[in-house]
Amino acid sequence: MSAELEVKDVDLFYGRVQALRGLSIEVNEGEVVSLLGNNGAGKTSTLTMLSGLARAKSGTITWRGKDISSAKPWDLVRDGLIHVPEGRRIFSTMSVHENLLLGGYQVKDPKVVADRVEECYELMPRLLERRTQQGGTLSGGEQQMVAIARAYVGGPKLLLLDEPSMGLAPLVVKQVMELIGRINERGATVLLVEQNARAALKVAHRAYVIEHGHVTLSGLASDLAKDKAVIEAYLG
Ligand code: ATP
Repeated sequence: MSAELEVKDVDLFYGRVQALRGLSIEVNEGEVVSLLGNNGAGKTSTLTMLSGLARAKSGTITWRGKDISSAKPWDLVRDGLIHVPEGRRIFSTMSVHENLLLGGYQVKDPKVVADRVEECYELMPRLLERRTQQGGTLSGGEQQMVAIARAYVGGPKLLLLDEPSMGLAPLVVKQVMELIGRINERGATVLLVEQNARAALKVAHRAYVIEHGHVTLSGLASDLAKDKAVIEAYLG
């Protein structure tokens, strides 16, 4: 069986800066896969490339059997490849509810959108309590939950999450990771970029370590969590 997502030997440049160097990763349907690595390793670039916001110079990107290396970001979102960027970027002057509804702007059937919003409230009762509150006045953890819920309303087949734990207290990180696990159980494949390797390896099935734009280590998350080099570099 071929993987849901296959990235093969990709090079990506910003002007003369090379961010990805022969990067290859695979994500199977139903998995949570984490990308670990230090600042500047190329994790965010991988996600922006997958969602069509940055273009690879060479290599191939195949999603659900289709070449997506020159696909338009809005077509990918419509088809269920949905990116939650670093820094959440929720609409600060709109309510929680309005933010969630916007996640479904490309979904044709309003009933499907309404049902998914209700599911989000079931999964995150905190958001239901705050449904009329302006996005900008929420705590960091609540904003992250809105960002993930908004993506859920779009109907993600493949959900790309960039540093969802950034700036959050440990208890809130735990809640966000549990939410990611529950969204995965509901059918979304997840590619998770994290600096918080400990939290990422708990929720992920497999992980890749990226250094200087390419993969230096990969394996089952449970094995990597016991790997001496990973412990020294990322879990110390
Ligand atoms: P972090 O954890 O700090 O976000 P990262 O692993 O996500 O790091 P990237 O943001 O993908 O790393 O950056 C990879 C490399 O590409 C870095 O050297 C970075 O400086 C460079 N880079 C990223 N975005 C741009 C850009 N828009 N213009 C020029 N260089 C960039």
